[in-house]
Amino acid sequence: MSARSKLFQSLEIDTYLLRKVSENTETNEQSDWSIIESHVRECTKCPLHKDRNNTVFGDGNRNSDWFFIGEAPGKDEDLQGSPFVGRAGRLLTEVIFSMGLSRDDVFIANILKCRPPNNRDPNKKEVDKCFSYLEKQIELVDPKIIVAVGRIAAQSLLGTDLPMGQLRGKIHDFGPSGIPTLVLYHPAYLLRSPSKKRKVWEDLQIANDFLKK
Ligand code: URA
Repeated sequence: MSARSKLFQSLEIDTYLLRKVSENTETNEQSDWSIIESHVRECTKCPLHKDRNNTVFGDGNRNSDWFFIGEAPGKDEDLQGSPFVGRAGRLLTEVIFSMGLSRDDVFIANILKCRPPNNRDPNKKEVDKCFSYLEKQIELVDPKIIVAVGRIAAQSLLGTDLPMGQLRGKIHDFGPSGIPTLVLYHPAYLLRSPSKKRKVWEDLQIANDFLKK
């Protein structure tokens, strides 16, 4: 089965409904993005769709080496439809800037595309329903490195219950192709514990050194 057929199958799209696709890779890639985007926009796979103002698909450079993944939209993200735009998001933007990059240089998305009520942690059912969207985004961006932002994102991506202390500070592998994955403290935690910013800086050096190899 072709990669495109697999994509459609995992998104539960009947391929016989689709027009014949062009051979042009760039066009195919654009249409793959639009298909996922519209499926996320219309998604009702879990109850979180009922209270959302907007889905938060993710944004940034779709050809980036860096893919940042947070846990779920908060209030500001739900209102604006973009990831990491609230207070914690501004700190993440500074973290990205400290690496000599801007938000437009990286791709940013979340494990969940809809906001959980009162910013509670995503539950397993929600993660399971939403995960195929993120997997397809990762497949399309094809990053050199994934940065899991916070414990929930890291545990969901890596399929583990290990605590942050054991997750950060090293490179993990994500998925069958073993995409290098770094785990950072969540900026919301850094706002409460600014002394931990140094650890984030140290962790980013691990990623930079890894990418230079
Ligand atoms: N926290 C996250 O994990 N993601 C966002 O988009 C915003 C806050």
